[in-house]
Amino acid sequence: MTDCLFCRMVAGEIPADVVHETERTLAFRDINPQAPTHVLVIPKDHHATAGLLVGADPQLLAEVVAAAHAVAVAEGLATAEAPEPGYRLVFNSGPAAGQTVHHVHGHVLGGRDLGWPPG
Ligand code: C5P
Repeated sequence: MTDCLFCRMVAGEIPADVVHETERTLAFRDINPQAPTHVLVIPKDHHATAGLLVGADPQLLAEVVAAAHAVAVAEGLATAEAPEPGYRLVFNSGPAAGQTVHHVHGHVLGGRDLGWPPG
């Protein structure tokens, strides 16, 4: 059994509030939401960071980004034609960025005005 939390969600061993799924990606609501919409989008295969994933399987990173955009559209944060009202897609990578789960995940955040720069 893997000790990776998100691999265990993919395997169905830990429950997840899934909002979108494709053959190679899964999207589920964050348990500690930082905005009205806060969804995590992951590849089902284990890769630690977006930078490592793009080296190993660039098509899969593209699928993660496409899934994130599909979630944003479904959540009313964008349309197929325009990024309105808008959303943020964040990949924390490594300790200085605050990455706590070492299975790459894009945070889809929206539903409120998002400050810049982030903390
Ligand atoms: O980017 P970072 O690694 O800090 O984000 C991990 C995210 O995973 C956090 O936002 C946390 O709330 C979320 N999480 C979750 N379900 C868990 C454990 C963590 O949604 N069981």
